[in-house]
Amino acid sequence: MNYSISRRAASLAPSLTLAIDAKAKQMKADGLDVVGFGAGEPDFDTPQHIKDAAVKALADGFTKYTPSSGIPDLRKAISDKFQRDGGLTYKPSQVIVSCGGKHSCYNVIIATCQEGDEVIIPAPYWLSYPEMVKLASATPVILETSDKTEFKVTPDQLRAAITPRTRLFILNSPSNPTGSLYTGAEIKALGDICVEKGVLIMSDEIYEKLVYDGAHHTSIASLSQSHYDHTIIVHGFAKAYSMTGWRLGYLAAPEPISKAIDAIQSHSTSNPTSFAQKGAVAALNGPQDHLKTWLAEYSKRRSYAHQKLNSIPGITCVNAKGAFYLFPNISKLGLKSAEFCQRLLDQEKVAAVPGIAFGADDYMRISYATSMANIEKGLDRIEKFARTLEV
Ligand SMILES: *Cc1c(COP(=O)(O)O)cnc(C)c1O
Repeated sequence: MNYSISRRAASLAPSLTLAIDAKAKQMKADGLDVVGFGAGEPDFDTPQHIKDAAVKALADGFTKYTPSSGIPDLRKAISDKFQRDGGLTYKPSQVIVSCGGKHSCYNVIIATCQEGDEVIIPAPYWLSYPEMVKLASATPVILETSDKTEFKVTPDQLRAAITPRTRLFILNSPSNPTGSLYTGAEIKALGDICVEKGVLIMSDEIYEKLVYDGAHHTSIASLSQSHYDHTIIVHGFAKAYSMTGWRLGYLAAPEPISKAIDAIQSHSTSNPTSFAQKGAVAALNGPQDHLKTWLAEYSKRRSYAHQKLNSIPGITCVNAKGAFYLFPNISKLGLKSAEFCQRLLDQEKVAAVPGIAFGADDYMRISYATSMANIEKGLDRIEKFARTLEV
């Protein structure tokens, strides 16, 4: 039997973050004292009223197929959310609920890109973007950034990268993996170029609510009608409501695009889980006060970790403005990021994700979505490890 797999599938690299997380969890299960900085998910529990709504839906027998792009009350709740938070007007028909924000990203890329198209992705990037672009038979065009510019692309960089083949520009602010946040003016400068050149923007706003120091997230779609017309927003419940395992995300798009995605989804996953959607309605329409508590806690951890990392010889770290990651520069310690993280895990039992996974080999990603005690212990171990490498 010839088990040759498709060119499309063979072009993919498996997710390194999930792999490292799995290895760290296995080491923990084997009784080892591992500190995990690898997780891309909040360490808080899903708020109780959200769980209650899903449990009630199950008890009520809400366990059958729903419309494939989501139940009407959830699409309405999402439409209301956009109006409330950014003054954005999306009809429920422009909103598609999918099986996670990741699935929403995939739907957008597969619905808008094809062979011959180029997709501009700033690096460090969320590692799934380039792989999804390849799955669509399109070509990722990576724009390098560094800690010197807080990992933000400049308008000049974007303009120079656009060709007649450019179809999509992917923007993720606040960013995974760097935690950087574009200001309103920076967003506008990039958006203006996309509008001028007729390039679509996929704006991944999943960390919208996780911003610090009074910073404010600006949605590119809110800037003007033409920005709105060029933008597809991807969002979800995983980060702001700690619902990673529920597998629910959503997107909002100009109608021709939401229609196309509706058709794609109806022939692939069909509806996201029925009773999970009821939980999501409660998430959006219910109290939001958990966020204040979480943000205060994240902010405390971020400050500590940022300061501690910068105190370690050979490591420098710009502070994050959003999300729950720091992206320290480890290049002075003389190891490639994959070897650095491998040895860190083997020698000191600390799991962090090598920057190479995000297209930036000089760095590693530290998630502070873990307890303060873990952060203190883990960073002490990183310090110890770094001192053995110091050159
Ligand atoms: C977590 C995350 C998502 C979505 O995650 P889901 O669990 O699929 O909802 C999307 N984009 C970025 C950048 C993320 O970090």
